Amino acid sequence: MIRSIPLETARPRDEGADEDPSPGDARVALVTLGCAKNLVDSEIMVGLLARGGFRTAASADDADVAVVNTCAFIGPSQKESIDRILELAALKREGRLGGIVVAGCMAQRYQADLMREIPEIDAVVGTGQVDAIARVAHRVRRGGRAIVEVGPAGTAVDLAAHRALSTPRHLAYLRIADGCDFRCTFCIIPQLRGDLRSRPFESVVEEATRLAESGVRELLLIAQDSTSYGEDRYGSSRLPELLRALAQVPGIEWVRVHYTHPKTWSEALIQVFEEVPQVCRYVDIPLQHVTDRMLRRMRREVDGEGQAGLLRSLRKRLPGIAIRTHFIVGFPGETEEDFEELIQRVEQEEWDHVGCFAYSREDGTPAGRMKEQLPERVKVERRRRLLEVQQGVAARVWGRWVGREVEVRIDAPGGKPGQYVGRLEQQGYEVDGVTRVRAKAEAPLLAVGEKARVRITRARRYDLEAEVIG
Ligand code: SF4
Repeated sequence: MIRSIPLETARPRDEGADEDPSPGDARVALVTLGCAKNLVDSEIMVGLLARGGFRTAASADDADVAVVNTCAFIGPSQKESIDRILELAALKREGRLGGIVVAGCMAQRYQADLMREIPEIDAVVGTGQVDAIARVAHRVRRGGRAIVEVGPAGTAVDLAAHRALSTPRHLAYLRIADGCDFRCTFCIIPQLRGDLRSRPFESVVEEATRLAESGVRELLLIAQDSTSYGEDRYGSSRLPELLRALAQVPGIEWVRVHYTHPKTWSEALIQVFEEVPQVCRYVDIPLQHVTDRMLRRMRREVDGEGQAGLLRSLRKRLPGIAIRTHFIVGFPGETEEDFEELIQRVEQEEWDHVGCFAYSREDGTPAGRMKEQLPERVKVERRRRLLEVQQGVAARVWGRWVGREVEVRIDAPGGKPGQYVGRLEQQGYEVDGVTRVRAKAEAPLLAVGEKARVRITRARRYDLEAEVIG
């Protein structure tokens, strides 16, 4: 997903901070690709660039420097990153853009090779060197070329205090850790982000408190593997404790946990979901596959029954829970039988939100060296079939909400008077369907960020429609 974060609209962490009172005429454009963790890095870069005296260019073709924060997770996201860089390179050749800085996972992965391939690139900044962004951007503005600011993966320092938020005022991503200790055979992330590094407990709670003071009501917890939070720093997972502490932060109404791993769920964590009302009845748990053979080849460190049992107990103990999961199809060695078993499970389990990638062969990964690679057409066809089955499931699952009276958080006006876009607790921000809300013409305006009581009137595949009641 491509996002541009204008510095002016991005809210510095706390109003009135000692920013450069007279931003120089240095103009920068920042483009973010990839996941929410990359977005947080971009928000940090925005804050640092603003403090470094940069102001936003209306668009890249009016900037002294363009910073593109890239994603290198899989082939399609690498292609999107390259396409974006090439667009900027064309602007530069036409004299409409001063300099190009490539940051993020492509910079970490390909470093100087990127500049050899695309000579219009002036600098590369690694995932651990975000704190150098303003200095590098100024060097590029002053004519610096061939700048490589890339260190070993996983050297990023805790820069959360510099974030300039880009999400709607009432919600914010809260990164609790970076890197990952798992070694799934298809995944390049540990090579780009390093091993698991959990932020200090106090630093996370402090940031949540600052966010709440600035109007945030919903925290979206992110990491590569949230359920392992604290393992590296405290010797065991402290996610349950952290969730209880975040729920106590005045003003915080919803705490949503993204990127959990089936191996690192615990009894203590399930109890928090049972007992703490602020923790959303929403579980984001990528499974990647369901057969033992595939899970072993992916080195997911769980077996089919292990993860199925966990999901059964989540459903049993947490009524109303929505489960978001993700699969990779066409993994090397995946047989038609493996795939059929996956499809049957998707049909039977009726998971609320399902995403699916066709396996992307990545250099430098064990799976990339496996012999049993499948033809691209088989991968694409299996992805099409899985998503087709999920469409049917989604119609059933969301159809059951019709007639129910529930709370919706209003995220934005809906384009016409009395219309709004919102989400149930069971719908994640930007990644899931939404609830389109209609209020009576004479009804008072609903405030963005607040909750409204509604009756669900209709389900449209992944989205819901609702009318305000009471
Ligand atoms: S859990 Fe596996 S897929 Fe997720 S970031 Fe870690 S290695 Fe990659």
